[in-house]
Amino acid sequence: MSGLTDYHTHSVLSDGSARYETMVRTAIEKGLDEIGFSDHVCLKPVTWAIEEIDLPVMSHQIMEIREKYDHLISVKYGIELDYFPGREEELHRIINSLPLDYVIGSIHFIGDWNFDGDTSLYGKWPNDELYAMYYQLVQQMAASNLFDIIGHLDIIKKFAIYPESDLTHLYEETARIIKASGSVVELNTGGLDRPCNEFNPGQAWLEILHAESVPVTITSDAHHPDQIARHFPGAVELLHKIGYTEITTFTKRRRGSLKI
Ligand SMILES: [Zn+2]
Ligand SMILES: [Zn+2]
Repeated sequence: MSGLTDYHTHSVLSDGSARYETMVRTAIEKGLDEIGFSDHVCLKPVTWAIEEIDLPVMSHQIMEIREKYDHLISVKYGIELDYFPGREEELHRIINSLPLDYVIGSIHFIGDWNFDGDTSLYGKWPNDELYAMYYQLVQQMAASNLFDIIGHLDIIKKFAIYPESDLTHLYEETARIIKASGSVVELNTGGLDRPCNEFNPGQAWLEILHAESVPVTITSDAHHPDQIARHFPGAVELLHKIGYTEITTFTKRRRGSLKI
């Protein structure tokens, strides 16, 4: 797996099962060039995110691990931060308070509904309407320019719930807004192990992103060490097929690239 990075991983500080050290050792065993930690940070009180009081602990632990393993692997400091419209200033404050290499922006809520964990409200709206609400939030998130990476772009399909109509126009509009924002989209391989049984985003979506020249990175969304770099060979193969030849890297929120 040399020449690859995995920037989307969760530790015990949020909802993952392992500590940073175990994760780094696994990443080294798997031959990654870089491992990035991205524990959940959320302005709403949820059980799956790090407590605000623990943010300095997270920074401290990552700096320690980085120093210890620097000769073997590049350790990157990221967060997966929930976007909420109207709360941009609070988000900006959190981002600026941490020495981050990158910020993944994710939508896990429509209003107060945590739709990727709680299935109770599916069916309340036509799926076309649900998708429109979700992508409206994705567009606002990209346009906020707060984030480096757009997390699991089509996570609204997680439970294999699909729109009634062809929404290609909505995806194309969203891709243009992402391109204009300068954000990178992650190819989140965790989707293959979710009920949708497909990468997030899937092939048709990636083709639209490629047509708009939106850059990508490959991530696992690992919550357990054995999920680090899961399904990466298939992800590289798919990106090649679509026409991608490189992935984006981040250091102190500056971009670089790696050939794939
Ligand atoms: Zn997420
Ligand atoms: Zn995640």
